[in-house]
Amino acid sequence: VPPERIRNISIIAHIDHGKSTLADRLLEVTGTVSSRDMKDQFMDSNDIERDRGITIKLNAARMNYINPVDGLNYVIHLIDTPGHVDFTFEVSRSLEACEGALLVVDASQGVEAQTLANVYLALDANLEMIPVLNKIDLPGAEPDRVVREIEEVVGLDCTNAVMASAKAGIGIDEILQGVINYIPPPRANSHLPLRALIFDSYYDPYRGVVVYFRVVDGEIHKGDKIKFMVTKKEFYAEEIGVMTTEQQPVHVLRSGEIGYIIAGIKTVDDARVGDTITTSAKGADEALPGYQEAKPMLFAGLFPVESDQYNHLKDSLEKLKLNDAALQFEVENSAAMGFGFRCGFLGLLHMDVVQERLEREYDLDIITTAPSVVYSVMPTKGEEFFLDNPADLPEATKREFISEPYCKLEIITPEEYVGTLMELAQGRRGEYVDMKYLVQGRTTLVYDLPLAELVNDFFDHLKSRTKGYASMEYSFIGYRKNDLVRLDVAINGEPVDALSSIVHQEKSYAVGKALVKKLKEIVPRAQFKIPIQAKIGAKVVASQQISALKKDVTAKCYGGDISRKKKLIQKQAAGKKRMKAVGKVNVPQEAFKAMLSIN
Ligand code: GDP
Ligand code: MG
Repeated sequence: VPPERIRNISIIAHIDHGKSTLADRLLEVTGTVSSRDMKDQFMDSNDIERDRGITIKLNAARMNYINPVDGLNYVIHLIDTPGHVDFTFEVSRSLEACEGALLVVDASQGVEAQTLANVYLALDANLEMIPVLNKIDLPGAEPDRVVREIEEVVGLDCTNAVMASAKAGIGIDEILQGVINYIPPPRANSHLPLRALIFDSYYDPYRGVVVYFRVVDGEIHKGDKIKFMVTKKEFYAEEIGVMTTEQQPVHVLRSGEIGYIIAGIKTVDDARVGDTITTSAKGADEALPGYQEAKPMLFAGLFPVESDQYNHLKDSLEKLKLNDAALQFEVENSAAMGFGFRCGFLGLLHMDVVQERLEREYDLDIITTAPSVVYSVMPTKGEEFFLDNPADLPEATKREFISEPYCKLEIITPEEYVGTLMELAQGRRGEYVDMKYLVQGRTTLVYDLPLAELVNDFFDHLKSRTKGYASMEYSFIGYRKNDLVRLDVAINGEPVDALSSIVHQEKSYAVGKALVKKLKEIVPRAQFKIPIQAKIGAKVVASQQISALKKDVTAKCYGGDISRKKKLIQKQAAGKKRMKAVGKVNVPQEAFKAMLSIN
């Protein structure tokens, strides 16, 4: 089809507002996927994504739409975006590949933090937005109120807003008409040298890396010799094509179109999101703007429970890396834990997903330490350096200062929870920036907060203090100096380096106390007494002792209720699977995460 009959769109929404359901409905209505073949949530194609109800990796689909008004065939490319702050850069690239976006807002909930964050990204990419008031089938839906909210809070004109129910199939034709009428077609620059923006890529064990891209300028032909302008790698375009239900090969893709390429690429590291594809001969001089290297914000140690699984863990991480350019890892040798890997992640979700894949897909039992942010340290001698493992912090006399990463946190909450949320943010060393009243008794709160405080279970506390009604988003803003110290832990006299953490001086005693108390509950008793200490330098700031076990634990219920005894044995067995022997003591996985629930 000619460029004026192409539309490139994505759907942006706060989590659970109905993005995936709407995507499915659009695919169904345009006949891209027949309702009979429709696997629920076609676009959330990966197991873990579906289990968690979130979209982790991007995906794209090409729909053919016969416009009933002019009887002509239009091509609508729908690009799905990951709905999580860890993947903001990928979201920004996929939006960059579009001219417009459907802004889905739950008509029974209203604008949330992620709605706003996504709108900012869409505005950065100059997208035309069509507001979609979803879930109007719900008895609690108040589309008129939410329209006012979008106009006032987001500042978006709602004249063309569509009232819809993705679930009940209401408003879907209006949405498609809106896409045709209000979203501009791509500007076609077919005469220019090729420049195509990579917005997603994934590794297929049979076909190698499949790269998704938007042709911005020029054309790409099957068989072309192509070059990735950032990585400078060259390949032959063995297959190019479009994404209908399956990948459908074509001979040429032109300016404005969205497609995939297969070119014998071995790892996604060679085809990075944000990179520009050009032709090797007569290629473009300048890459498309906006490329950023994936930068891990969190680091954690991953150790095999059984040390003979080390090589298996290494192979598995290498396999995951083929499909995950953002994942970083290097060998870590811990005095307490033995050999493992120090891994870098974009954020908490990314970390959880990697961990879950290792366990689920690679059948590994691993112990993961509490995540650490990346600190910047100025030593007394030498140059400032970054540090992602608290165990590596030079002692107090050998450093001038430590700085830590800060983020800007935006919370949207019903007014009545403002007090408790301010208390929460201040307790986490947050610095107040701004507060604004929105419509209908809702408020935005803005704080600058150390990232380290956010990755402790901040989000869980926010949800529980507001009965789930508040939402939040954050973005990295830079480094600030603080009075930070390292808190070490010794179990049974043995220092456990994997339990060391960096905390604020003022909180260190309280955190030390809470941590040893918690560890006392988690570490199982043994035939001997187990002292647990928290230390700063040589100074013990808190200690507890686990008393010795007198008899076998099952003896306690000997002669008692048999099912209780069975349960106890099962519990022990399950617990055993994920314990790491540190000296003479078995330390369960939970212990390494204990720090996360202390504030
Ligand atoms: P996403 O997180 O934005 O992708 O949201 P989903 O599409 O996964 O939808 C979240 C939940 O809302 C699911 O349980 C959907 O069935 C439900 N849902 C989505 N659209 C509608 C709608 O129009 N009406 C109602 N009642 N429920 C909906
Ligand atoms: Mg979804």
